[in-house]
Amino acid sequence: MFMDRRRWLGDTPVSPDPRRVPVIPDRGGPCHGGMLIRGARVFDGRGGEPFGADVLIEGRMIVSVEASMEAPRGYEVLDASGMTLMPGLIDLHTHLSYHEPDVAISESQSLADGTLRGLERMRFYLESGITSVRDAGSHGDVTYRLKAWAADGRINGPRVFPAGQLITGTGGHGAEGVGPTSPALGKIREASGPVDWREAVRESFKRGADVIKVASHFSPPEIAAAVDEAHVLGLRVMCDAETHYIDWAVEAGVDSIEHPLPRTDEAIAMMADSGVAAVPTLIPYVIIFDQLGGYFNSTSRRFSFSKEDNLQVVSRMHRAGVRFGVGTDLVMDWFRYLPHAYVRELTLMSEAGLANLEILEAATLGGARILDMEDRLGSVEPGKLADLILVAGAPDRELEDLARVDTVIRDGRVEVADGRSLLPRGRAKTFEGITPPDA
Ligand SMILES: [Zn+2]
Repeated sequence: MFMDRRRWLGDTPVSPDPRRVPVIPDRGGPCHGGMLIRGARVFDGRGGEPFGADVLIEGRMIVSVEASMEAPRGYEVLDASGMTLMPGLIDLHTHLSYHEPDVAISESQSLADGTLRGLERMRFYLESGITSVRDAGSHGDVTYRLKAWAADGRINGPRVFPAGQLITGTGGHGAEGVGPTSPALGKIREASGPVDWREAVRESFKRGADVIKVASHFSPPEIAAAVDEAHVLGLRVMCDAETHYIDWAVEAGVDSIEHPLPRTDEAIAMMADSGVAAVPTLIPYVIIFDQLGGYFNSTSRRFSFSKEDNLQVVSRMHRAGVRFGVGTDLVMDWFRYLPHAYVRELTLMSEAGLANLEILEAATLGGARILDMEDRLGSVEPGKLADLILVAGAPDRELEDLARVDTVIRDGRVEVADGRSLLPRGRAKTFEGITPPDA
């Protein structure tokens, strides 16, 4: 059973992540001030039609959404007429440190390089309007540190919700052939037996995981032990699985099934009944089929599939009433296809039969729900964290317009303007002995 910490916390200020650790009350944060965004058409993330409204931000919070407002004195005013204002997009499946092709193993395994790879990718995500990423498996402590630095405003980038290392059975998905000279070393935690699966979950929790990532193969008792441990700790479980492993994962109570891999109608009905979400990640398989000709040499992909089959899986889940989130799983150097890779993921969901408003909800509030963060993120409502984007166009009519993200506000701060990452000038410290000349 999932132990929701919220019922014990009341109004206690907590960390802006699913761990919900009590924190010292926010005293306005790092010099945010206030801002009025005026004249936008607002898609508020909840799936309804956009409407005209002004949005007031104070510090890192949205405080008011009204038809028309005057800016309080001293507040910045952002004219958003002609644009669509919406919640920052959520990508539920990234790998920030994933190695790139054709580089030396020593570079691939280097945590310094892994951190720099993540930093570069965070810029691509942010400039694409993605203000939260759920990292589904990266090297060592890379994603935990990137999360902390972005949260402190020391680097620009989306919020990072790390899983840390991927947990799989010995030789399971991701661990196939992994040894001392593999670029994936440090990204995978192989586990064997229910006790060890439980221990692997605790290790991730100890390091700071916001979600537990598991992958086939596993036995029913192993996945049950992992899910039970994660849920008792208050963490959700995302699962990469296929075929009969999906049945076992859903029976064990995982929270989302990643990828569009083969599954039975019975498994789909079970997902719908028990509220297990789907994060289809269609776009990486388009790249895999179009550029690599197929998915080869993997013991966790022992089935036949195609781009069309994948769309069919999404259609069947949609018809059955399964909830969706959006993830792109851009491994290697595929982040360079952003923002189009994310937009294409959405248009593929449209080809599978989802309506545009449903898709945009999946990309925002739906994603926040899957992150267990719907009380803080995912919609344009008073009391939510101010993660917002301005789009030059109407993505509810043309999903492709989402490739034209003009402004990105994360935590109440403009981090992208005119489509480009803004790095504020470093704020100099002073004391009596070092006083700026204009003070
Ligand atoms: Zn992945």
